[in-house]
Amino acid sequence: MFSGSAQPGAALPKRLRVFYGGTFDPVHNGHLAIARAVREALGTTVWLMPAADPPHREAPGAKAEDRAAMLDLAIEGQAGLRVDRRELERSARSDAPSYTVDTLRELRAKFGEDAPIAFVIGADSLHGFAGWREPEALLAGAHWVVAERPGSALDEHLPPPVARLVAGRWTLDAHALRTTPGGKVLRLRQPLHPESATQIRRRIAAGETWHHLLPPAVARCIVERGLYGATPIVLPPAPP
Ligand code: ATP
Repeated sequence: MFSGSAQPGAALPKRLRVFYGGTFDPVHNGHLAIARAVREALGTTVWLMPAADPPHREAPGAKAEDRAAMLDLAIEGQAGLRVDRRELERSARSDAPSYTVDTLRELRAKFGEDAPIAFVIGADSLHGFAGWREPEALLAGAHWVVAERPGSALDEHLPPPVARLVAGRWTLDAHALRTTPGGKVLRLRQPLHPESATQIRRRIAAGETWHHLLPPAVARCIVERGLYGATPIVLPPAPP
């Protein structure tokens, strides 16, 4: 994947750890296509990291344990995709809201200050990035891989506060993410994926077709558990 010998004096590539956080409420084909595209572009495992339920508030869709179970089903048999439950485990230990910057600090404590770490987000999330807790620390402390998404153009269409935050950090060179612990923003060029979890929840509740938007095992889980207003039914076992 990465060929060519290192320049004399150039930083040696290190192991890159990649985390794709989200509510995954539910995980859909768009999420999975992006995770696979990141795995191919960066040549490393992608850890899908479900967010905890917000404390003291009813979850908007499915509870964390159901969302994580759907992720387990979605990645079954997919090389290089794994589920990381650290945000769920942290919320079980503490009642405080969970922020990505807390996750980054936890990852730094585990892997060290020098380890290259990257987070994956969609372009719509980048649009809201200035409202995240400690955005400068997040950008300086990790790399960010931004997946293009319909309806959320990048470049000159970014909100000005976000454009200022990411100025000078853009790269198209995946290899650059292995030579420093953080600080770069990689634009992931890939086919656009129209799926959205909000749209899927709405379609389920409205009785419209939705199974084609996520993996069959996840669709079964939604029906069996009666999530998002789906009519719960007991299905015969899947063929081997
Ligand atoms: P919702 O529709 O409720 O906002 P979602 O489909 O965006 O949900 P999330 O779990 O919030 O799902 O997404 C996790 C991350 O994946 C976010 O950074 C989001 O921008 C990104 N993402 C989700 N779907 C897509 C998609 N179709 N294309 C590109 N990025 C996506």
